[in-house]
Amino acid sequence: MMMREHVPIASLSTLRVGGLARYVFDIESAEQVTMAFTFAREHQLPWRVLGEGSNILADDAGFPGVLLHMILRGIQKEESGETVLVSARAGENWDSLVRYAAENELWGIENLAGIPGTVGASPVQNIGAYGMEVKDTIHSVTVYDAHLGEVQDFSNAECRFGYRESRFKQEPYQIILGVTFKLQRNGTPRTMYADLERAVEQGVTLDTPAQIGAAVREIRSRKFPDLTRYGTAGSFFKNPVISEDAYRELKGLYPELAGYPAREGVKVPLAFILDKVLGLRGYRVDNVALFEMQPLVLVAYDGATAIEIDAFAKEIAEKVFDVTGIKIEREVRTFP
Ligand code: NAP
Repeated sequence: MMMREHVPIASLSTLRVGGLARYVFDIESAEQVTMAFTFAREHQLPWRVLGEGSNILADDAGFPGVLLHMILRGIQKEESGETVLVSARAGENWDSLVRYAAENELWGIENLAGIPGTVGASPVQNIGAYGMEVKDTIHSVTVYDAHLGEVQDFSNAECRFGYRESRFKQEPYQIILGVTFKLQRNGTPRTMYADLERAVEQGVTLDTPAQIGAAVREIRSRKFPDLTRYGTAGSFFKNPVISEDAYRELKGLYPELAGYPAREGVKVPLAFILDKVLGLRGYRVDNVALFEMQPLVLVAYDGATAIEIDAFAKEIAEKVFDVTGIKIEREVRTFP
């Protein structure tokens, strides 16, 4: 295990902002988690966990404690008839796991191709895309419970998954060490989302997990900024769920507004509201902008600070509220 001092969090975050972390422990095994905790306790320092930093807005002031940088790698599979249990360690790159599943012709996570971040982060917000959520294939999650000081397994039901939700959001002391997925030898392509339907119409064959994964990556590469070129954390805001009355009213004004039934009302694409209702596609203030190709995504240019991004995001939320009455929420989490 490597312990580093005074590390810019900007170098560990895809938004590329954030001040210095006092200590960073690059964690490669469950035992090293315990060692990092012992160190934090002995020095009476706070601690936080970080994967690939693809969903955080890190404070310019940095973090005066111990940062557990989860880089544990490894994927294993265990066959059992039509089902295959695939276990991946927390620091494994999410899309590498999707590719592994595709290479082994396993179904269940192919629509989640190209989502940035680690396997360990995937259950936290129950990542989902194109009609598929990771909770549908998670068999169990192995954690180090920092309160109890022991490793335990949670079954799918014990993870309390919801839409972009899980117990891990409320219980950050459950440090995810690995996830076991229940994948299928046989499956049916799920192509009900407009982007994938369009691909089919254009003649793209979507018969296997590998073909679907490749198509999803291609779609995403058009919509989401290249992480190697810009600071970004993907979708910065969540797509809002509004009441049926509010939806009818907005739809009256903007007939092209899509709407999808959700538990507490109607889910609407925020990108449409930002673009067509507010005319904010590509809107930029100094070093921060809404991405031209997908306004739900925020882009941080060189020199951007967390304060600047925070102010920009607040301004966008106010504009949405002033014009539509919708209170939008951030998907990106403030760090620490
Ligand atoms: P999109 O496909 O334009 O969809 C915008 C919104 O409409 C999403 O909230 C989506 O719901 C909903 N929607 C679209 N078609 C639907 C259908 N056939 N049935 C039910 N709901 C439908 O969104 P996008 O921004 O380009 O993103 C593409 C996909 O990646 C979406 O599924 C999005 O949620 C997902 N994504 C996920 C994360 C994450 O897990 N953190 C981050 C970025 C994007 P859903 O949100 O339920 O799909």
